[in-house]
Amino acid sequence: SAESPTEDRPIAVDLADVTKRYAETTAVDDVSLSVREGEFFTLVGPSGCGKTTTLRLIAGFESPTDGTVRFHGEDVTGVPPEERDVGVVFQNYALFPHMSVGENVAYGLNFADPPGGVSDDERVRELLELVDLEGMQDREPDRLSGGQQQRVAIARALAPGPDVLLLDEPMSALDAQLRERLRIQVKGIQKELGITTIYVTHDQEEALAISDRVAVMRAGAPEQVAPPREIYRRPETRFVAEFVGDNNVFEGTVRSLEERANGGRRAELEVGPETFAVDLAREAAVGDAVTFCVRPENLQVSANEAGSSERNATTATVRSAEFLGETTRVHLEWHGQELLVRTRDPLSGDVAVGFEAEDAHVVAIDRTV
Ligand code: ATP
Repeated sequence: SAESPTEDRPIAVDLADVTKRYAETTAVDDVSLSVREGEFFTLVGPSGCGKTTTLRLIAGFESPTDGTVRFHGEDVTGVPPEERDVGVVFQNYALFPHMSVGENVAYGLNFADPPGGVSDDERVRELLELVDLEGMQDREPDRLSGGQQQRVAIARALAPGPDVLLLDEPMSALDAQLRERLRIQVKGIQKELGITTIYVTHDQEEALAISDRVAVMRAGAPEQVAPPREIYRRPETRFVAEFVGDNNVFEGTVRSLEERANGGRRAELEVGPETFAVDLAREAAVGDAVTFCVRPENLQVSANEAGSSERNATTATVRSAEFLGETTRVHLEWHGQELLVRTRDPLSGDVAVGFEAEDAHVVAIDRTV
């Protein structure tokens, strides 16, 4: 199912009609969203869409121009960060360079309630074990790799036993391989502790890989909030469809409509010079403008121009190809539009392209008359 595993849990953090304005910029624009206890919730979107500001509002580093921030239903809008029970990790580690790894983590403990019978040393050992750095307490931070430093920063943030963990692009300074390793570790730590986690990234692939739910943000507000599979398979807007993963977006006009036995609707769409059949989940009328998308993996392509007569078939021209190892991403030109497909075999020249009506996902239907 597309549901989040934490869907029945109580709300840990919610924003109600939150706006943050700077002089000329509305960084966060009337945002309402809820994060559940134990959930791994990710804010993703292009640069400047308001991710960091949203996280800072949750942490308490910023106060909203309008609206309310609540933790477990309690209004914390005016509460300073140190009283919010949050652990925060930033992009650039921010470790104390003159303290050992152990001292950095122990620093986090200073904000904790007096530990119940467990010594600070013991807690530091436990935390370093949790982040896979056992035995490293005497190291100096600058002798660790970026990924290790970031795990120390996570251990330090977790030291006081916060209710919510906030992570702002914690992996963006790392190389691709380290990033993939660290994201598995971060997900593991989050699962082990069951801690509510709000994560900011501009990397849509990372967001899909790590999260229970994702909020895709644009211009200060989420366009869609849903589990990763739903974001990928059923984007609600063209922006989400194009921001998350590769996609092919088509615009067409309804020529005719057919009610189907299963209760669905199939439309014949005029798209450029072609006619394609597309399943519609929503009401539409003849003449409506329909925007739909087809993922590259759902566009069948073959060098042989004799495509199957059952699917929507057309012809396109190969413009360029990127060899990615397992597959090759091929850029095609189709009536002045670029199409992306994935293949195993090299392609060139004119090729046959087709897709199934049920693999077309509609993102917008507009009345034109
Ligand atoms: P990035 O991925 O580039 O960090 P972001 O999605 O995190 O971007 P924010 O940093 O939240 O976006 O910024 C949202 C908007 O608010 C931007 O236009 C930014 O320039 C503006 N902004 C953020 N902080 C301030 C500030 N302190 N003063 C003025 N404008 C700000």
